[in-house]
Amino acid sequence: MERKDIIVIGAGVIGLTTAIKLQETGKYNVSILAETFPTDPKSIHYTSHWAGAHHFSHATEEKQKAINKETFNVFWELSSPGSPTESLFLRHIETEYREDVLKADVAKTLETMPEFKYLSDLPFERVKAAYSLRTLTIHPPAYLPYLQSRFIAAGGRTVRGSINHIAQVIEGGTHAFDVSPYAYAGSSLTNNGSKGPLAVIACPGIGARTLGGIMDEKVYPVRGQTLLLKAPWLDYGRVMVEADGTFTYVIPRPGGTVLIGGTGDVNDWYPIPREETSEDILERAFALVPDLADPALRNGKSGLPPVPSHKHGPPPVSEGEGSIPLSTLKANIVEAGCGLRPAREGGVRLEVEWHAASKDKEATRIPVVYNYGHGGFGYIASWGSASYALKLLEDALAQGPQQNSEGQSKSADYSTVDGSIGGN
Ligand SMILES: Cc1cc2nc3c(=O)[nH]c(=O)nc-3n(C[C@H](O)[C@H](O)[C@H](O)COP(=O)(O)OP(=O)(O)OC[C@H]3O[C@@H](n4cnc5c(N)ncnc54)[C@H](O)[C@@H]3O)c2cc1C
Repeated sequence: MERKDIIVIGAGVIGLTTAIKLQETGKYNVSILAETFPTDPKSIHYTSHWAGAHHFSHATEEKQKAINKETFNVFWELSSPGSPTESLFLRHIETEYREDVLKADVAKTLETMPEFKYLSDLPFERVKAAYSLRTLTIHPPAYLPYLQSRFIAAGGRTVRGSINHIAQVIEGGTHAFDVSPYAYAGSSLTNNGSKGPLAVIACPGIGARTLGGIMDEKVYPVRGQTLLLKAPWLDYGRVMVEADGTFTYVIPRPGGTVLIGGTGDVNDWYPIPREETSEDILERAFALVPDLADPALRNGKSGLPPVPSHKHGPPPVSEGEGSIPLSTLKANIVEAGCGLRPAREGGVRLEVEWHAASKDKEATRIPVVYNYGHGGFGYIASWGSASYALKLLEDALAQGPQQNSEGQSKSADYSTVDGSIGGN
């Protein structure tokens, strides 16, 4: 019988989107195998929970630009007014202020966005460029379960498991993870003649650094810390990029909350929010968007003392009475969070290798498609990356296993790279 089983490792935004893309072709039986799923408690092991997530692409490399644009078009369609998925998104105007000069190639990407315009009215002297555009926020707590249920509705299955080495799924598919040694002691612990899958698609995010058979040392974390605040009155987004690289963002979400950040700490694995960082984020975000304060306070009903001075300079817009202390915002904090952006030297890994479960099992060789290393743009690139992974898979299946120079087949220790792209 023709094999159609495909295992997708990972249930973050990349794994879920890729699994949908494969399952919805109608040609494959796709299973997602992952340690963490969208409705699990938030943790450092699952970055997708912590994203903003807005679509704001600064890509300059042609393939990455195309991937991000394809994704934006899918989001735009899903968020169209009246569509059943509209509530997963918030379309809004976002403004970016820069203390450095906007590079021409980045500008070219941004200029393709709806309602893009340069702003001549710069809020203060050190800002060298300002522009606004219409984009959208993707709401992770709603969007990720939507992806999972769309996948299941299309016939996909999900299996929970922690994989030590990709050889475990190359040999027996999800079988080793479907059974419980305690519930089914005895014969079901054998592999029951289970067959390996047709292919594996690896979307483990930061897990690519430690997952056996991949262990990609080019993968490293860029830790991002955030605060989620109640601010149902806020309907615009704002980003500030300072000359020293410090970036601050205020991203409104559907449902009346707003995510503020940001930090980008390279090789910082610390798994919980640091209090001093939260204070700094709150201060920067409030300076950037005084409208974070409750309108009732801004209308001068509070009689509060002036805003404390802050190292990041005066706010870009007038504060009205300018009499609201930072501490009033604290009452609106819902959650502090942090996640590890799965960055990678050389950019995203979108490649195929042919792997066998072990050297004495060459007959089990199958394509393994990698789709990880999306750093701070996993949502922005999700649909385009999934299309690219599908194409890599279908090309690999059509061409068959690659041979090395001696004409011998290759096992997991050796790889053939069939295609790659760089990230931004
Ligand atoms: C603060 C912050 C803000 C961000 N803002 C944005 C934004 O505005 N826009 C944007 O596009 N991106 C944003 N990002 C980046 C985005 O969140 C990531 O690029 C994206 O979530 C990566 O998704 P992923 O599926 O690759 O990884 P993850 O979401 O981490 O998923 C990895 C999956 O692999 C599984 N896995 C890993 N190893 C194993 C194993 N050994 N066995 C079994 N399962 C395994 C995990 O359980 C999980 O299911 C932000 C990130 C942060 C931290």
